[in-house]
Amino acid sequence: AKRNGRGKFAFFDAAEDAGVCSARRLESELRRALDEKEFRVVYQPIVSGASGEVAACEALVRWQHPELGVISPAEFIPLAERNGLIVGIGDWVLEQACRDALRMPTSVKVSVNLSRVQISDRNFVRRVAETLARTGLAPERLELEITETAIIDNERNALRVLEELTQLGVSVALDDFGVGQSAFSCLRELPISRIKIDRSFIDDLATDPKARSIFVAMATMARSLGMKTTAEGIETEQQRIIAALAGCDHLQGYLLGRPEEIDSLSFDTPALAAN
Ligand code: C2E
Ligand code: CA
Ligand code: CA
Ligand code: CA
Repeated sequence: AKRNGRGKFAFFDAAEDAGVCSARRLESELRRALDEKEFRVVYQPIVSGASGEVAACEALVRWQHPELGVISPAEFIPLAERNGLIVGIGDWVLEQACRDALRMPTSVKVSVNLSRVQISDRNFVRRVAETLARTGLAPERLELEITETAIIDNERNALRVLEELTQLGVSVALDDFGVGQSAFSCLRELPISRIKIDRSFIDDLATDPKARSIFVAMATMARSLGMKTTAEGIETEQQRIIAALAGCDHLQGYLLGRPEEIDSLSFDTPALAAN
């Protein structure tokens, strides 16, 4: 196994290195995880830059493994994409997020990440519609996040899927904006209502004038295209101020709130929470 300094992931590295047989073991682990309800969804608040109120929550999946503890999606999503289990996991996350959204104030949207594999599934949009109908969540309260790299995989299919989602009343956000290769053509051709500026730009906002210029230019461009913007990965007060001044209407990051279990979420504005 590779030594990556992250002990509990050695299992996955080992499984990968050993080839087909262990890949099958991993697939059965993921399948079991889905059957045994080892996945859960946590929610990170996304706040209005102007008012500080919670405007949305991003659903982020976690795998509570019986022996390995909590496994990050960055570890298992790529594997689930390779063996196709992401479709089942993604359906489960979507349903859970829609149900949980019903327990949040109606002014709060829920935002769910999509994999490229999910959108290339023929029946994807139909299942989104069915999930909304089954749970009773208004389509306007659901936002789906997709990365530009997932879109350029198959642009024609992405265009069809995004148009159908928009027809349903579901909005689409372009995630990790600015780090892929084909960001600008995505903005021209696809019905996208929001861009989420990648955390890497925010990381360097206070220290790198170029990162700051690019960040401001992206926010300005989005606005002139009639799109909303979220700045993700806000960790400091300085970053929060710069992002808000650049006109990002939504802010997300550890400074504003960490991903939490639904029952631990607070929808009070900071000002209200203070008294
Ligand atoms: P993402 O969509 O870019 O999600 C944001 C990630 O940044 C989350 O990591 C979140 O916990 C983290 N984050 C938020 N604020 C901050 C901050 O201020 N500083 C730092 N350093 N990090 C912050 P997480 O939950 O580990 O998710 C990692 C990635 O896994 C996500 O990146 C997304 O691409 C993917 N993912 C998560 N849940 C799902 C899912 O249900 N389906 C799919 N397809 N992918 C998912
Ligand atoms: Ca996301
Ligand atoms: Ca992101
Ligand atoms: Ca990311």
